[in-house]
Amino acid sequence: MDEFDIIARYFAPLAGEGAFGLTDDAAVIAPRPGFDLVVTTDQVAEGTDFFKHDPADTIARKALLVNLSDLAAKGAEPAHYLLNLSLPEGMTPQWLEAFASGLALEQKHWRLSLLGGDTSRTEGPLGIAITAFGFVPQGKMVRRSGAQAGDAVYVTGTIGDSGGGLAIFRREKHTLNESDRDHLIARYRVPQPPVQFAGPLREIAHASVDVSDGLIADLGHIASASAVRIVVEGEAVPLSPPLRALWGNAALLRAVTAGDDYQIAFTASPGLEGPFTRIGRVEAGEGVSLTLGGAAVALPRTGYRHF
Ligand code: ADP
Ligand code: MG
Repeated sequence: MDEFDIIARYFAPLAGEGAFGLTDDAAVIAPRPGFDLVVTTDQVAEGTDFFKHDPADTIARKALLVNLSDLAAKGAEPAHYLLNLSLPEGMTPQWLEAFASGLALEQKHWRLSLLGGDTSRTEGPLGIAITAFGFVPQGKMVRRSGAQAGDAVYVTGTIGDSGGGLAIFRREKHTLNESDRDHLIARYRVPQPPVQFAGPLREIAHASVDVSDGLIADLGHIASASAVRIVVEGEAVPLSPPLRALWGNAALLRAVTAGDDYQIAFTASPGLEGPFTRIGRVEAGEGVSLTLGGAAVALPRTGYRHF
């Protein structure tokens, strides 16, 4: 199969409005009057974000979901995406079929379509880069820079599960039962960003970030962009029972500095209730601190760094 067969067979069926069936040089995005187009890109790499022997459909889903996470954190509804693939020798039709089925599943669930991309051969490992496009009502994208002293800090979902799954893949010793182990591995393979939360978020959030490199590190981005200090109250950070079972007393410190959560951390007025947990507060000052019982806890690192 050459690249044109691959495109026609596996990707053209995923193409939507404006993509011309992936038969032209470029695609068209129709503007929506009264909306801004929000653009984001993220790549996933073999050995870091997924492993060679992960199922192809989960690799595809993760590649797409890490991008939908960024859109959600900005309050944007996903609409389209571009797919750039670097394929090593020997990718089978079965692999490509499963990969495309993973994309199809998420596309259908979140109602977005493929606009185009690029397919090339590589001597190196498999690489997948996706660029996603979404819409927000004009001027309503939620920035990192709006946090104010007096805000509360909230997070969606639970933190650290994916890091736990990765630790298991890296053969860290554990005594989990099968269902707890599977839960954590599933979170690593297929993130669960709260895509449906984009609308409510833009109504309430003053500042927001997608948690991808570690809760503390990503809240640090809000703190610096907003010129405020963020205090995370450790006992309030939501940790899943499987993660507590895996990491015991170390769970909190490891969870808040692990990566790959793809949840949303945001600041807003205190006292709000919804599909999120209050985990701390915004003060005047700078940086992020973690407290337990009111006392600051020293952090060995704040999050994942690529370099
Ligand atoms: P050119 O090399 O002339 O730019 P390509 O051969 O790269 O054209 O692409 C042909 C068409 O297929 C374009 O519409 C492009 O967007 C689409 N395409 C190529 N690779 C992918 C891919 N991995 N996913 C989706 N669309 C793709
Ligand atoms: Mg091209």
